[in-house]
Amino acid sequence: MAQENVYDVLIIGGGPAGVSSGIYARRAGATVLIFDNGTSALKKAKHIQNYFGIEMITGEQLLQNGLEQVKKLGAKIKKEEVLQIINDYDAHTYIVVTSKNRYIGRTVIICTGAGKKKIPAPLAPFEGTNVSFCAICDGFFYKDRVVAVVGDGQFALHEAEELSKNAKTVYLVGKMSKKIEKLSKNIIIVPNTLAKVEGEGKVEKLVLDDGKELSVDGVFVAEGSLSGFEITKQLGIITLNNCIEVDKSFMTNLPGVFAAGDVVGGLLQVSKSVSDGAQAGIEAVRFIKVMEGDV
Ligand SMILES: Cc1cc2nc3c(=O)[nH]c(=O)nc-3n(C[C@H](O)[C@H](O)[C@H](O)COP(=O)(O)OP(=O)(O)OC[C@H]3O[C@@H](n4cnc5c(N)ncnc54)[C@H](O)[C@@H]3O)c2cc1C
Repeated sequence: MAQENVYDVLIIGGGPAGVSSGIYARRAGATVLIFDNGTSALKKAKHIQNYFGIEMITGEQLLQNGLEQVKKLGAKIKKEEVLQIINDYDAHTYIVVTSKNRYIGRTVIICTGAGKKKIPAPLAPFEGTNVSFCAICDGFFYKDRVVAVVGDGQFALHEAEELSKNAKTVYLVGKMSKKIEKLSKNIIIVPNTLAKVEGEGKVEKLVLDDGKELSVDGVFVAEGSLSGFEITKQLGIITLNNCIEVDKSFMTNLPGVFAAGDVVGGLLQVSKSVSDGAQAGIEAVRFIKVMEGDV
């Protein structure tokens, strides 16, 4: 891998928490790359009137100001969809896989915003059975079996490819938002929506909006983008009440992986996300220095 893809701090999220992490990490001398797929909650805020020193600003403008500021400090920003994070135990680094590339980070800060992924309504009665949110975690259980991925974007496609390594057949159920260029042979695109789910104690059959039926051994939910919730599943990060658990330094149970902002819960406001992010940025750099024996 090209050396330019190796960073001290990889930040997943370009909202207030991610940008603030980037500002503090950059000012402490770290190399910083921020991933932003353009879905910050702040974009939805028409007027921010409760942030220190600013009487009134639109959420969109505040967001842009932050991104410009961190860019001027030398952080890189990639408008790429993060699909997976891999713990490279031997190298003591983390690999962030996006729709376009792979990046290596000595530390990672998760700032993906609030919200547990909602399970599609027809699947809700089956939560906790053979319904999964993580292909890398549970794909192995479906060796030579038939599974379905429910989703419509790059993340769903990524999950389907992951499952295709073990499963006999993978149905990708969803009206795909982008043109698919390459697909493994055992993945079948089903451009429908889910109408009904049938089964005795577990999912056995998916009934589609056109009445067609698919018999399956398991279902993987992958709607929208990879969220903080799914990242915790991929990496084995501890959560409490759907929020990422962090210590005082905003580090998760994984050494070198931090989390900040709405994704850790508490006050879901810009001021708190900025504060969390500042602390996480500082602590990520401190973590690197400790690892290097510098402090
Ligand atoms: C309608 C509305 C009004 C609000 N009004 C106020 C207000 O008046 N005052 C106030 O203080 N707060 C307000 N908030 C709350 C505020 O917007 C949030 O608390 C704040 O944005 C949280 O910051 P964050 O950085 O944790 O997450 P977010 O701002 O949600 O940022 C998440 C970031 O993660 C990125 N991301 C997520 N997944 C991926 C992926 N797979 N790949 C790449 N990037 C990814 C997104 O692109 C985004 O950049 C409001 C929120 C809403 C919805």
